[in-house]
Amino acid sequence: MKLVFLGPPGAGKGTLATLAKENLSLVHISTGDIFRANIRNQTPLGVQVKAILDSGSLVPDDITIAIVKDRLQQPDALGGYLLDGFPRTIVQAQALSGFEQLDAVVNFVLKDSEVVRRLSGRRVCKSCGTGFHLTSLPPKKEGVCDKCGGTLMQRPDDEASAIQERLRVYHAQTAPLVEWYQSRGLLKEIDASPAPETVMKVLKELMGR
Ligand code: AMP
Repeated sequence: MKLVFLGPPGAGKGTLATLAKENLSLVHISTGDIFRANIRNQTPLGVQVKAILDSGSLVPDDITIAIVKDRLQQPDALGGYLLDGFPRTIVQAQALSGFEQLDAVVNFVLKDSEVVRRLSGRRVCKSCGTGFHLTSLPPKKEGVCDKCGGTLMQRPDDEASAIQERLRVYHAQTAPLVEWYQSRGLLKEIDASPAPETVMKVLKELMGR
């Protein structure tokens, strides 16, 4: 099965993708994760895109499309995958349709106020990357990772100004994809406001599993 997860930042696409890859046996491909890994490893691509990610804008289409095209040709992706965070523009969707045939596009629906609440409260451990949330998943001790004792930090793109930019970019560039995929008969919508386990159940039903 070849799936795309669409939706605003903070809709839980990453969390759901992690659950879905176990439940639906799919390879999880997240362009955000690919960029962050490159930034962590200080590769030429990472150096090129760091400021873009920090500000909440989009990496240019040609760079992003080339990365995804290459990733989808890896042997593990041939049996099916779940694309999380790609496509994000009509140009990317057009390019993808030129080299892949999707089975479905799942749109995770979440209102802007909930996006802001979720993203602004998010914290991650500097050492092991474990995620927390100030209100919905707080660490036992403020600012300290439950798992490894590391220091918790806010991702630069979860700071207030970057959240506003990510939402602006989402509405301007990514939201038009909902209609684009709807008109091609591929779109399935899902309410992303309940807990991830509940959303996962609905997703499985939607996929006929
Ligand atoms: P994410 O983890 O999916 O929210 O992505 C984090 C950041 O990576 C985004 O805010 C963009 O700067 C960049 N990014 C991820 N996917 C794409 C994409 N498909 N096109 C352009 N930029 C992307």
